[in-house]
Amino acid sequence: MSNTFAGLGLFPELVRAVTEKGYTAPTPVQAQAIPVILAGRDVLAGAQTGTGKTAGFTLPMLQRLSRHSHHGGRHAVRALVLTPTRELAAQVEESVRTYGKHSTLRSTLIYGGVGINPQIEALRRGVDVLVATPGRLLDHVEQRTVSLGHVEILVLDEADRMLDMGFIHAIRKILALLPKARQNLLFSATFSDEIRAMAGSLLRDPAMVQVARRNAESELVVQRVHPVDQSRKRALLGHLVSTGNWSQVLVFTRTKHGANRLAKQLVCDGIEAGAIHGNKSQSARTRALAGFKAGALRVLVATDIAARGLDIQQLPHVVNFDLPHVPEDYVHRIGRTGRAGSSGEAISLVAHEDRPLLAGIERLLKRRIEQHIVAGFEPGVAPLATQTQEEVARVPRQGQQRRRGGPASGGAQSEQRTGKRQGAAPGKRPPGGGRRGNGAARRAGDTGRAGAS
Ligand code: AMP
Repeated sequence: MSNTFAGLGLFPELVRAVTEKGYTAPTPVQAQAIPVILAGRDVLAGAQTGTGKTAGFTLPMLQRLSRHSHHGGRHAVRALVLTPTRELAAQVEESVRTYGKHSTLRSTLIYGGVGINPQIEALRRGVDVLVATPGRLLDHVEQRTVSLGHVEILVLDEADRMLDMGFIHAIRKILALLPKARQNLLFSATFSDEIRAMAGSLLRDPAMVQVARRNAESELVVQRVHPVDQSRKRALLGHLVSTGNWSQVLVFTRTKHGANRLAKQLVCDGIEAGAIHGNKSQSARTRALAGFKAGALRVLVATDIAARGLDIQQLPHVVNFDLPHVPEDYVHRIGRTGRAGSSGEAISLVAHEDRPLLAGIERLLKRRIEQHIVAGFEPGVAPLATQTQEEVARVPRQGQQRRRGGPASGGAQSEQRTGKRQGAAPGKRPPGGGRRGNGAARRAGDTGRAGAS
């Protein structure tokens, strides 16, 4: 395996483009994937965002397309990249432009939530590489504004997430429109039975590319759990942001509603915050992301789907305000920090009722995550009066835990390392009061899954 881009067999104009982008050496997924894709093989790659996978498929794809000229009709697409979300589609297409800037290949971006006419215009002008989310692409198919009969290369990016989001039928419909003879590249962070089944039917004798999962290799990411009552998570988050003087923190909530509410509350607390999720218009999402990247927003609150594929480099802090229901999502989330060689910190705020989710994550990681109780935020002391009757009824264990905690004995400890399960921590009433948590958001039953068209 070569440790230079030229050594992997890439044409000089592509090497020039990556050099101008500032890359000095291929990442592991690039070193493995580029030669086999250049050789024309199908690929099954286990790699997630942050590994450099986009260049891993884009560079050899561009090279293969540039070896011969357009032979389809004016509308014909030669390479099709399907992604689960608009944000990821936009980032992949930007990469295609960046890496292809010294070539004559044309690319276009297609996703929902924005007007279709400019996309129709762009398709009419002709396109070599089409990056699309599945729903909007099918709209174009129905309107006959796109022709997929000349596709030579198909990329399914973040295939696991596309299946999670229910795109399997859309993908099947799209596959049926493609020529039989083509090269297929399937990228997925995780390998469920569904993904394996899809790979089995789609790929011919695929080359396997597997890079270490970030959780397996990420000494760069410090992971920590702060046990805290659900109702005090927001106060603790504000405390961490202020006392740590954090300038850029990505916060995950489970629901869109929860993301909105938390962002609003943080703003009320004097912390510049914005939310990004699938219910927001594309321009609102783009604005929030740009503000965050530029440093105008200290906190960006996101759902898993919306955060997927966000390319924010050297993100120092990721906070799980809610733990994800799917343990693999934890791995995706912490993959947002410590990217491209920089170190990062992934903090999880864990209430008593989140414990089963934490256990699932630790099983996946095959290790315990270090726990610190932050002084003043000891769990088990949130005043019941701040919860609605409904919330109290919904989380009876919280009450039990409080009783088990017994009389106040510890007071406000300094930041305490427990390294194991927290008991019901005693202590005085902490600063910030005990306000309502995000129980209402959970009741809203909003799954946060609407990142794509
Ligand atoms: P990706 O996993 O494709 O989302 O890429 C993650 C980040 O790594 C992006 O910001 C890329 O610009 C960056 N990147 C990709 N390849 C390299 C490389 N060979 N050297 C340094 N950075 C890279």
